[in-house]
Amino acid sequence: MIILVINCGSSSIKYQLLDMKSDDVYDLMAKGVVEKIGLPEGILTHKPIGKPVLVRNLPIPDHKVGMELLLAALVDPESGVLRSFDDIEAVGHRIVQGADFFSGSALVDEDVLSKIEICCDFAPLHNPAHLLGIRAMQKVLPTVPQVVTFDTAFHQTMPAYNYMYGLPYKYYEEYRVRKYGAHGTSHQYVAGRAAQLTGLDLEHSKIITCHLGNGSSITAVQDGKCLDTSMGFTPLAGMIMGTRCGSIDPNIVPYIMKKEGLTPDQMTDLMNKKSGFLGLSGKTSDVRELNALVAEGDQRAKLVFKVFTYDVIKLIGAYIAEMQGVDLIVFTAGIGENNARLRRRICENFAYLGLKFDHDANAGASGDTIISLPDSKIKVAMICTNEELVIARDTMHLVQNME
Ligand code: ADP
Repeated sequence: MIILVINCGSSSIKYQLLDMKSDDVYDLMAKGVVEKIGLPEGILTHKPIGKPVLVRNLPIPDHKVGMELLLAALVDPESGVLRSFDDIEAVGHRIVQGADFFSGSALVDEDVLSKIEICCDFAPLHNPAHLLGIRAMQKVLPTVPQVVTFDTAFHQTMPAYNYMYGLPYKYYEEYRVRKYGAHGTSHQYVAGRAAQLTGLDLEHSKIITCHLGNGSSITAVQDGKCLDTSMGFTPLAGMIMGTRCGSIDPNIVPYIMKKEGLTPDQMTDLMNKKSGFLGLSGKTSDVRELNALVAEGDQRAKLVFKVFTYDVIKLIGAYIAEMQGVDLIVFTAGIGENNARLRRRICENFAYLGLKFDHDANAGASGDTIISLPDSKIKVAMICTNEELVIARDTMHLVQNME
């Protein structure tokens, strides 16, 4: 089944075209990105597998034009991979926030769209853009079934004692204030893939997945289901991140607002976009640049790594306590996949629990790799996340079941 996977942002559309033969057997046919939608000069970068890359610079006024452009690239005489749009059998969309409405992927209908609309309140930067993307796709491919996959869905198995906050109960009832988590599709994928790689029975396992990227979150996965996760009502909670502060004493918020005369929106912006690695180092949110600063002896860049490392260690420790043990720790995403030294520092801390780290495998890891020694009591794996594959699998299953 040929499936187009769409990740639609407010000014960009990322896409992948996959030919799904089964859950694990598939061909990536093309991927690309439409950027700067709504700006005077937009860009389409289309990368078909085994064919020349296509780059087009032109104004892209809205998401519908963006979708038309990427579809045109898919059938382009030189860089196309399809004969006609009719070859696309389904479209799967990534959706950031599905709140407690969705514990799995869903076929798009008006009811599903109205629920995604309600969730815009909790993800004001993302959900409105996803809706634009779905509606644009409905216009350009009106007869093709569309599926939505939610970043929050995997976390819906959390028990109430992990998702409720110590706030007056009415805010849960009236405003749906509770922990929802994020990166669920990635946590779900890497837990399954790492269990497969290490020969663990997912249904009877204790796994801790560390999605460490620009945004970072850690999840306790017990018997294949999410038990707890570090992000909260929004992706601001949990550990320190590229530009997000993570969990802080809530009283700091009104304190800084009063001192600096900030509005709620300005404070939200400060905590989401100007904090984290960027705020603490005063220089950059990017780990590669921070590594270079550490090499030059920058003390604040060193401090960033320490805070980050101990945030990960403390969360792993909490989840080991919660699950009464752990069989497997998984690292993924930009930092988790590419930073061997950080993985080593974190894992060395758990030597006291019998974790035996494979330094050689870790140093040379590229692609999915086991980085613990065979006699380690806790297995460790580095897995390249693949959220698009989960979206394509779910889309395939839901569309097959329609018939
Ligand atoms: P996002 O949350 O935006 O998807 P990513 O998962 O791409 O973010 O992670 C971005 C982070 O990963 C950045 O701090 C970046 O420096 C780091 N990163 C990405 N690639 C590499 C690499 N090859 N080596 C070291 N760090 C990397």
